[in-house]
Amino acid sequence: MNITVIGAGYVGLTTAVALAYLDHNVTCLDTDAAKLDVLRKGRTPIYEPYLDEMLALVRSRLRFTNSYPEAMAEADVIFIAVGTPSLADGSPDLSYVRSAALLIGEHVGDRLVVVVNKSTVPIGSGNWVEDLVRESYSRRTHKNSALKVGVASNPEFLREGSAIYDSLYPDRIVVGSDRKDVIEVMYNLYKPILEQSFAAPTFLSRPANFDVVPFITTALASSELVKYSANAFLSLKISFINEIAQLSERVGADITQVAKGIGLDDRIGSRFLQAGIGWGGSCFGKDTAALISTGSEYGLNMPIVRAARQVNYAQRERVIEKLLSELRILKGRTVGLLGLAFKPDTDDLRDAPAIDLAKRLIERDVRVRAHDPIALDRAKKEYGELDWTLCERPEDVATQADALVLVTEWADYRKLPWADMRGLVRQPIIVDGRNFLDRDLLQRLGFRYFGMGR
Ligand code: NAD
Repeated sequence: MNITVIGAGYVGLTTAVALAYLDHNVTCLDTDAAKLDVLRKGRTPIYEPYLDEMLALVRSRLRFTNSYPEAMAEADVIFIAVGTPSLADGSPDLSYVRSAALLIGEHVGDRLVVVVNKSTVPIGSGNWVEDLVRESYSRRTHKNSALKVGVASNPEFLREGSAIYDSLYPDRIVVGSDRKDVIEVMYNLYKPILEQSFAAPTFLSRPANFDVVPFITTALASSELVKYSANAFLSLKISFINEIAQLSERVGADITQVAKGIGLDDRIGSRFLQAGIGWGGSCFGKDTAALISTGSEYGLNMPIVRAARQVNYAQRERVIEKLLSELRILKGRTVGLLGLAFKPDTDDLRDAPAIDLAKRLIERDVRVRAHDPIALDRAKKEYGELDWTLCERPEDVATQADALVLVTEWADYRKLPWADMRGLVRQPIIVDGRNFLDRDLLQRLGFRYFGMGR
């Protein structure tokens, strides 16, 4: 099939390479000229494991453009994968989706084209996108009836850091549409994934016993609600364990043991039960805010989702409290942050706890030094104005630090030369914001170790 993906971000690019890998002809469209430049040179503008390798494999079936007429001309399926960031009131900014939908209508032809919302959009957006496409199509052609556009919602569940894996080996594919022919097109598009009939890339083999992917078809609104509910549930699972972690600290329990004891119950499951500094990233914060905003449009308060957010953002302040209780005075101290990305294996800094923490510390006149193995350049670009020092090596973060805070659980941080780090710090205080480091080792080396909930 001929596929167009609008938006070459974390989701759009991953979708584009995955579909090209399945032998579809893919055009990836973005308005960001700098991004397109990088991509046309065969490089990737974001850090995502295996994206480079995939890009190299599919080059003959994937092209990049900023031209809507070119990208619409042959398309059978058009994915909208543009950003939907939060507005100040928590509702999603739909201006990018709106612009994409209007431009689709302006350039689409008369054949059946399926327009797919892959961006996370509020309930009702499927119908709204269809209206926009029709409106701009009929403005151009003065005939609405000839347009054969059908709309589908196809929420994306990929996790940054394992986006390619998640695209090739997903838990499920959800498609919402009120039209049978649209569902059929979507089934055929994803058939090699649904039936796992494609040859696995050498660098990302198929998991054992992984043979069929459930294809869940729903009404448009249900599919849109699936995405928001999934993110809200994951968010509240983390916030739940963080709330228990606070109690755990007070009563002298160890939250990692508590979580293990809870998580082995099949009904609960052990994933997303890691206590720590809390979630961040481009999705949980904005999607929970959007869900609350949608709820309020319908007179619902959504207290559980609100509480998940409140607990989450308070976790960041808990780190400050731990530093305060050890250092007494923060003004003039040096605090080293290990990790900037909102999670390991990505360079994404959107709603990253480290950025928030750095700002809170800088406000208290703390000298902040920070390191990240991958996101350092992005931090320089996006947060260069902050009054902090970005360090090329973790050792530089430790030099003369009054305290270290592990913010992102990059695997390499466990293997740091901790004995040398101990020699570099001014005070051997370490707050492990992810309960990730080797506590026994650090304590043996003379660090005063503080975890989250233990
Ligand atoms: P992103 O910001 O990385 O990428 C969006 C891209 O769209 C940018 O490159 C931008 O230049 C481009 N764009 C904006 N308007 C455009 C237009 N009119 N025409 C063409 N290109 C345009 O965003 P992302 O992280 O890929 O997220 C995209 C959507 O997917 C969001 O709705 C998000 O909530 C959802 N989502 C994201 C993730 C994730 O982990 N990042 C996971 C699931 C769902």
